[in-house]
Amino acid sequence: MSKKLSSKKLEKPVKFQTPRGVHDILPEDHAYLTVIKKVVRHRARQAGFRRISTPIFESKDLFTRGVGKGTDIVEKELYSFATKKGGEEYALKPEGTAGIVRSYIQHGMNQLPQPVELYYIEPFFRHDRPQKGRYRQFHQFGFEIIGEPDPGIDAQIIQLAHLIHADLGIAEKLTLQINTIGCPKCREKFTDQLRDYFIGKERNLCKNCVRRLEENPLRLLDCKEEDCRILAENAPKFANMICDDCKDHHQKVLELLDAVEIDYTENPQLVRGLDYYSRTVFEFWDESEGAQNSVGGGGRYDFLVEQLGGLPTPACGYAGGIERIITHMKDSRILAPDKDQIDIFVAQLGFEAKKVALQLLTELREEGVHALGALGKASMKDQLGKADKFEVKYALILGEVEVREKKIILRDMSSGVQEVIPIGKAVEKVVKKLGKKSLDKYDPSKELKKDTRVRPEEELLIRD
Ligand code: AMP
Repeated sequence: MSKKLSSKKLEKPVKFQTPRGVHDILPEDHAYLTVIKKVVRHRARQAGFRRISTPIFESKDLFTRGVGKGTDIVEKELYSFATKKGGEEYALKPEGTAGIVRSYIQHGMNQLPQPVELYYIEPFFRHDRPQKGRYRQFHQFGFEIIGEPDPGIDAQIIQLAHLIHADLGIAEKLTLQINTIGCPKCREKFTDQLRDYFIGKERNLCKNCVRRLEENPLRLLDCKEEDCRILAENAPKFANMICDDCKDHHQKVLELLDAVEIDYTENPQLVRGLDYYSRTVFEFWDESEGAQNSVGGGGRYDFLVEQLGGLPTPACGYAGGIERIITHMKDSRILAPDKDQIDIFVAQLGFEAKKVALQLLTELREEGVHALGALGKASMKDQLGKADKFEVKYALILGEVEVREKKIILRDMSSGVQEVIPIGKAVEKVVKKLGKKSLDKYDPSKELKKDTRVRPEEELLIRD
């Protein structure tokens, strides 16, 4: 709840509240959400991405297989349910990549010119322990490029994320952490060595890492617990075991980042918490908070399409956390443009005045003026008090006398100066005073064209 609202004493105890870890997005924060979406859509369009949305829930098996059985997301954080006894198990989506890869395969997108570039802005769900920057419903935007193995793709996705951070004014706070976790072949040798190194040291490992030692020893490298971190620092280094192809790929990604002047920190401990990655992995950190609250992350997933039933298809992606970006914008004192301001208030007294007020409101809005009117039965004093609270620039005031004389009072709310003008001139006068720049005009009919081509009916339907 916003400070403004919470300071008001509530009459009764609130009966229903949002569940732990989930939040309303109040209008103040929507201003941030809107500007982030706008920036993402703009950068995505520039780079040839097209938007996709996958369902909020899908087969649980998709996420178990896609994200990985032993990962925190699947093991501890998946919200799952079955429709009926013995019915299929579903889960709320915890991340975007698995669903998009499923969609790529299901809709035969391998028939399209490759690589296919897709982006999304969606809510996700994880049964995480709620804390600062960690919620049970949160929003991510993300990019996926499917169908191209070249290191240029990795660099392009990283650059895109960086440009979005720069547009939103937070790039300077963030450092790019990058690593390679190789291909399954060189990683297998490495995980064997890691297992050998950690076996016998279980006493000093946290409970999670003891379990990970069996399932995914790579994850021991990025554990946040202090004892595990000390051990991880002396663990075998992947750089000594990486195969020539993976090494070359990594080197090229770094060189391409140099070419587009993006700074990075090579971080051999970075492995990411999802199983599908191969080769490049990266995250954007605020150095003061480290991995705990990374703003976003991604990497290559060259084997996921095949693992989910498609043909072998290389791919790379990124997901950014919108709530955390908003926090960083607020910490940096960046204000999101608030386009919800009201310009003018129409106050009226008497039924005849109400009729004219409604007509005026309609005309003002058609001209692009944000206009509000009190259509209830409040006194003129209360109506003008309301106009003050909405911080409008002008009020138009109309009583029975004014209606009879076809006049209206135009009041400058900051100076209190009033003038009486003909009703017929009111809209024109207000528009002139506000200036063309503050008008909010949108004419969808300019964008919506009639399709005159002959097309089969099924092409006009939303796909099923
Ligand atoms: P991941 O792919 O899990 O690293 O998530 C990508 C980004 O999404 C993270 O860097 C965060 O910014 C954001 N994120 C992940 N989990 C949460 C959460 N539980 N609450 C809020 N944001 C999250």
